[in-house]
Amino acid sequence: MKIHRTLYLQFLAAYVLFGVLSFLAIVTVSSEAMMRNLVKVKADSLYREASLVANGYAMSIYNNDPNSREAAVAQLRAIDTYVSAAVWIINNSGKVIFESREGSWDHEKSFLDFDPAFTGRYYMTGDFYGAFKEATLSVFSPITSKYKVVGYVVIHSSMADIRRSRDSILRVELMTLGIIMGFSLIILAVFTIKVYLPLTKVTKAAEEYAEGNMSYNIEGTETQDEMGYLAATLAFMAHEISKSEDSQRKFIANVSHDFRSPLTSIRGYLEAVIDGTIPPEMHEKYLKIVLDETLRLTKLTNGLLELNSLSSVGMVLDLTDFDINSVIKATAESFGGQCREKKISIELILTGDELRVRGDQDRIKQVLYNLLDNAIKFSHNNSIIKIETTEKGDRIYISVKDFGIGIPQDSVKLIFDRFYKTDLSRGKDKRGTGLGLAIVKEIIQAHNENINVISTEGVGSEFIFTLPTAEEK
Ligand code: ADP
Repeated sequence: MKIHRTLYLQFLAAYVLFGVLSFLAIVTVSSEAMMRNLVKVKADSLYREASLVANGYAMSIYNNDPNSREAAVAQLRAIDTYVSAAVWIINNSGKVIFESREGSWDHEKSFLDFDPAFTGRYYMTGDFYGAFKEATLSVFSPITSKYKVVGYVVIHSSMADIRRSRDSILRVELMTLGIIMGFSLIILAVFTIKVYLPLTKVTKAAEEYAEGNMSYNIEGTETQDEMGYLAATLAFMAHEISKSEDSQRKFIANVSHDFRSPLTSIRGYLEAVIDGTIPPEMHEKYLKIVLDETLRLTKLTNGLLELNSLSSVGMVLDLTDFDINSVIKATAESFGGQCREKKISIELILTGDELRVRGDQDRIKQVLYNLLDNAIKFSHNNSIIKIETTEKGDRIYISVKDFGIGIPQDSVKLIFDRFYKTDLSRGKDKRGTGLGLAIVKEIIQAHNENINVISTEGVGSEFIFTLPTAEEK
């Protein structure tokens, strides 16, 4: 499967989009709002000047006294310089009667449309009825005499100044955005190193595993974070799968091998009987061997069937309370013949007359049977086997101990595996299937209990398993 829209590209696109949208927001919305604000602030401050003029010097302009008019004109010019804005006085009919920059009295300019009472505002922006070529902010304040408006003081300031202030603020904002984008580039870099690159490695590994290459090594992701954990988990999973594939292969190889050798010998003997290689007087001897081999095959098949039914999920146990002592006695008795043959005595060291436990009686009997069978098989002639029960808290410990050939140190871990046989036992026990202890382990585990083995090569072995005490008292 090919990934088309990678996380990384989406992340990059989001980053670029973030930058572009922020830039657009600054140059449109933010710039617009700033402009409106700056105009308002400037208009407010000019309005204060205009009001001062309207309530003071403006009246002197209307005055006929040339001295006071001249003084007023000088003041208005000074204000013009101070606020760097043209100061006009427009009379009621819209005629400009004073202009600080022209300095002529009988001015022809008149603005018949000019009617602040109508606009309801104290300033306007634009070319002031065509008076200016460039955009201008015009602020006006009424001149009143005897409660009547006789004219207006109008102060015109170029918008260019305001634009310049806006542009310089805008530049600072854009610079800040640039710095923020720069910093988020660091986040992007960290994301690339900490998340994206490891993720590509993990993805590559997942692809390899999906193709069956379970030995693929995920490299460079041994970090102590979620990525490292993910990589480690994936590697562990692959390892487990390859292990279970391995054990399945081994299992099948073992089954095939264990079936093939008796079949080969059966076939060999039967062919020899048929073609006369084996004389009739020897037939009985060899047919007995053939029978033995078929018995072994039956045992093997039964063992496999048993294991299969045990390990299928949710093995159903028929749990009851029963006396383990009597089960031990009965199992020991069933080996009477074999014991006599090898002159082995079984010693029972049981707690109390009756020791009630909870479990699946038939299965536990099979556990004891398999353990005792092994103990006798691997014991020397004239030795003893001890079966002992002990009660500790709410657990019963059952031990089957022999003084036979023992188990080599490095085999102890393996004896519960299917088909495993130690090299020591191969010679002694040709009939063994290597399934007995695997079945024992499955049964004990289904009871949620434990089984352990203590063994010394050449000295003997002890198998100990636990069972819960009976529920009814
Ligand atoms: P088997 O049918 O071969 O007995 P098990 O699964 O019961 O299969 O046992 C596996 C192997 O563990 C045996 O082949 C033997 O090598 C070893 N083993 C089991 N029990 C004992 C014991 N009491 N003493 C020595 N070796 C034992």
